[in-house]
Parts: sequence; C-alpha cells; structure tokens
Amino acid sequence: MSQSLQHQPAAARHLQARDLDVHIDTDAGSLAVVDALSVSLQQGRTVALVGESGCGKSITALALMRLLPEAGRITGGQVLLEGEDVLALPESGMRALRGKRIGMIFQEPATSLDPVMTVGDQVVEAIERHLPLRGREARERARQWLQRVGLPERAFESYPFTLSGGQKQRVMIAMVLSTEPDYLLADEPTTALDVTVQAQVMALLRELQREQRLGLLLITHDLALVSGFADQVALMYAGQMVELAPAGDFFRAPAHPYAQALLRALPDAQRRDEPLAAIAGSVPGLSERLGGCRFKQRCPHAMPACGEPVPLFRPGAGREVRCVLYAPGAVPPTPRETAQALQATAPASATADGAPKADGAPLLEVSNLSVGFPIRKGLLRRVVGHVDAVQGVSFTLRAGRTLGLVGESGSGKTTTGKAIVQLLRRQARVTGQALLQGVDLFRLEGDALREARAQAQIVFQDPFGSLNPRLRVAELLEEGLQALLPQLPAGERRARVEALARQVGLPADALQRWPHEFSGGQRQRIAIARALAVQPRLLVCDEPTSALDVSVQAQILNLLRELQQRLGLAYLFITHNIGVVGYLAHEVAVMQGGRIVELGSAEQVLHEPRHEYTRSLLAAVPRLVVPAG
Ligand code: SF4
Repeated sequence: MSQSLQHQPAAARHLQARDLDVHIDTDAGSLAVVDALSVSLQQGRTVALVGESGCGKSITALALMRLLPEAGRITGGQVLLEGEDVLALPESGMRALRGKRIGMIFQEPATSLDPVMTVGDQVVEAIERHLPLRGREARERARQWLQRVGLPERAFESYPFTLSGGQKQRVMIAMVLSTEPDYLLADEPTTALDVTVQAQVMALLRELQREQRLGLLLITHDLALVSGFADQVALMYAGQMVELAPAGDFFRAPAHPYAQALLRALPDAQRRDEPLAAIAGSVPGLSERLGGCRFKQRCPHAMPACGEPVPLFRPGAGREVRCVLYAPGAVPPTPRETAQALQATAPASATADGAPKADGAPLLEVSNLSVGFPIRKGLLRRVVGHVDAVQGVSFTLRAGRTLGLVGESGSGKTTTGKAIVQLLRRQARVTGQALLQGVDLFRLEGDALREARAQAQIVFQDPFGSLNPRLRVAELLEEGLQALLPQLPAGERRARVEALARQVGLPADALQRWPHEFSGGQRQRIAIARALAVQPRLLVCDEPTSALDVSVQAQILNLLRELQQRLGLAYLFITHNIGVVGYLAHEVAVMQGGRIVELGSAEQVLHEPRHEYTRSLLAAVPRLVVPAG
C-alpha cells in the first residue's frame, strides 16, 4: 500500500465508479455498453459482479483500469481511487497505479503471459516494476509467490507453453498479487480451473484479503461461488446495474425479477423432477436497448409502466433495485410466484412431462476399457510405448438413463467418451469391450461400423468449434445423415432435417442461416440436432453446457431432459458441474487418473460418497449458500 495513504480514514479506502458511462464506436454509431453504473469496492471486502454474457461486466472492469479496447470510451461519470479522480490522471500516472494499486486477473491467462520469457522472469519483472526490490530479493519474492499459489519449484524456470491452463492462471495470480495491490479486479479467475484448484485459489484470495485487506471485485458467472465468498452482489443486465445488495439478502430473497430468474435457473438435485425455469430470449444487443426497463421482453411481471421512463435505481435498506415493482421494504414476489410466471414464458422444450422411457436391458455395457496413446521417438517416429489415459473402465448404461462422468481435467473422462463413439480408432490403442445393444463397437468394420456410429453420437463443449462455419445449418444437419445413412432418399432427408430443427426449438428460418449468426445456446441446439439427425440411442455429452450462461444452460438441460423422456435416449454426461449432475444423472461414475474410483446411484455418490477422492472433489465444489431468513 502506498505510504501516503497509510493514514487515511478507513471510510475513504474505496475504489469507486460513480455514474460511469462507457460507449463503444461501431459501424452503427457510438453505442452505450455501460450506463450510469455506480459501485464501490472497499478494502478487505468482496463485491461480486454477476450477470449473463453481454451485460457489461468485463468492460466495467476494463474501464476501472482505463484499459478499454480502442473503440471504447468513458463518456461520463467518475472513477475514484480513495478520493483521487483516476480519469483525470495522465497515462503515466495510470501506468504507475496499475499493478501497484489495482491489479487485474483475466480469464484467459495465455494471452497475458509472454511466451518467450520464463515464468520466473515475468514475475520478477512485475515485482521490479512496482516494488523497490531488485535482483536476488526480487527473484526470492517471485519464487515465494509461485510457491504460494501451489506451483512446483521448477515452474520458475519454465516457459508458459509447458504449463497447463490451470498452472498459467496461477502464474498470473502470483504475478498480480506479488506486487501487493490494494484492489484486485478478477475477471472469471477460476473458470478454467478444476474445482480443487479453484478451491485453493479462492482460499488463497481469502487469506490475502485478511492479511492485506485486499478489495476484490470478482466477476463470475458462478453464483454458488459468489454465495460463499462475496460480501455484496452487483447484478448487471444489458449494461445497467439492476440489483446491488448484501450477498446474504441477495441469495435469501432476490428482489429484481432478473435475479429471481437466474437463481431459479440453477440446476440441482432438488429440482430433478421438474423442468428448470429457463429465461426465454437473450440479453438485448447494444442497438436494441431502447427505452424503459431493458429486461421487459423477458420479465414475467412486465406491465405498461415498465416501458417508459427507465426505472430508477432506487436506494433501499442496504439494497438498490432497478424495477418499478420494488419499493424499499416491500416483499419481493415469492419464489413460487416467480416459478409459475417464468414457466409460462419458458420455451416449449421446457414443458415435457412423463417418466423416462427406460427399458430393463442395458443399452451400453463397457468392460475393462483401456486407452493408450502412443509415445513416438526417433527420426522415423517409431512407437516405443503407450501412455495409458484410461485403464480398466467398466460401467453399464440403460436406455432412458443418464450416467454422469465426473472428475478433474486429465482424469480420462473425455477420452472414455471419445473411445466409445469411435473417435480414437486411429490415434490410440483401445482395448476392452463396448457392447451397444449386445454388439461390440470395437470389433466392427465397414457398413456395420457406420451403422453403429449412427447409434452413438457425441455433443462437444464448444458448439462453434464443432460446427463447420462454411456450411449452412441445413447442410450441417444433412451432412451426418449423408455420411451415416446414405440410403435415405433426399426428400426424406430434408423432411427429417426440418423436423429436427423444430424438435430442438430452433427458429423457423434457422436452416438457411450460418452458424456464426447464432448465439452460443442456439449453436448448441444445432449441435444437438446434428447428433440426433441419425436417430442415435446413445449421446455422449462432453461438457455441453459449461460454456453457456446459466439461463441458456437451463434451456439446453430442459431440452436434453425432454428428448430423453420422449425418445428414451441414454446419456453419458461428462461434466465438472455437480449441480448439473445432481439435476440430470441417475448414476454417477467418478474418474481419477484414468480409472473409475467410485460408481453408484447419483443419490449415493453425491450424498454418501465412499471414496476419499470423491469426498475431496465434492468438498471443493462451491455450493449455493442461502442464509436463513
Ligand atoms: Fe420486470 Fe417491469 Fe421490473 Fe423491468 S421494471 S424488471 S419489466 S417488473
């Protein structure tokens, strides 16, 4: 902390945005991305900035640091660092402040690290820039910080490309925190990390907060993480703050209809017999933010008064809410009323009922599955051995059932899924058995293999990467049909494609459009439709919702649940999200180091885990903490 500020009264120790306006220059003119935003970050406290993608969270953090992209401008309001007007500082003054007083951690560490410098040198450079330490002292401090974030000694001499995503994120955290900033803006700092590493990083941040009175602005989509960590929640929607409340109040009784909808959309084991309350529609784009409340198209309580003028941000008892329904002290709508209203606006896919069509016979029986990737050496790249990614995996999956496959990165989940859908035939040595309706998938060739491939399809995490951008949606859906069911007449193929688009809730004109014209959630619907085109019995879903906002995730989970009930599909559902597992899975298998270490009913594994690893994994998962009323 700078010496000049040591004696300031505690009340002045804030980083504040006051009525902050940010515009972005586009072909359509200058558009507001952040609108009259006020938030105050106090030393030693955590404010969580939450809301869906496109609500302006990251741009707010960048504005506080004066690091907006070239097309962005702060057009109004103030940023005050302990009373000092940050916007009035020359760029040289701002550079001195960044890193030393205010640190920032981004979601994607790879872009923030220099690929040609060792990790140690990068941390040393940051220390020497901001602290009066040089040479051996700076190196010693860098080593200590790399150790403190849980990196091995050798990391100091490593280059970023030799580290995993999680390790790179820890380097970033060490680099930013080693200069002991007073305020930290952390934009999805743990999103790319496994839950156990996430728990370590969050514990470290908490410790530093206690030691150094770090003021933390935590930008995240993970409401469970927020509920256990934040002191205050700032909810943004379409560039505006719509609710600002102490975390306990926010989670106990969210007041803004958007806050209520987000919390209702979270999957968990208690809601497994009902569709999730998905929020219809999406955040309005920059040019669609017209007068009145910006949430009105999606709000179940919308009324004429919500049209004009923009609802004021009314101060309440420790809470502020931008909604005409809210009056300080008034009782917000009950969760039941909210649920009923939201269900009325949910897409058709969320209204399925009826029990899953499970028949007694196993659909998929995997026994003793092992997958080894070749180790090649020498000029001729001869295979000199194999590294086992999956070893001796066995499980059974029935029609209409979901097996959740959980575990940390590198535990072999995705490799298991890919081996079953025959994606590793060329790259790896696959042994064991995978019987799909009694037929061993690993022994098939030619036409028999093609037919079996149609029966077992896969949906990936990144719906954009898995869709060919040069094909229209209709062509994308037909492509799989042509490859796996070439005997199908063209007319029937087209009819099936049209029916599929309807089935997954795509808009009527979707078939003639390109993948890039769709949102993430709609692209995932296209990927699911593509997998369903060949009428599979088994879907391997590899983290299909982890790149999506919670509201869109709810839509996709509802869709998958409805399809399972209607078509009797079996899902092998790979995920790190225990809430999703609790909501969807009937059985759960826990993987560690390429092996299944625990397998049982979802109820047993999630509530009475027997294996030590399962217990530690579940302990690290953030849970939604709802304080008693
Ligand atoms: Fe819904 Fe109206 Fe409140 Fe907006 S102002 S959140 S539309 S009730």
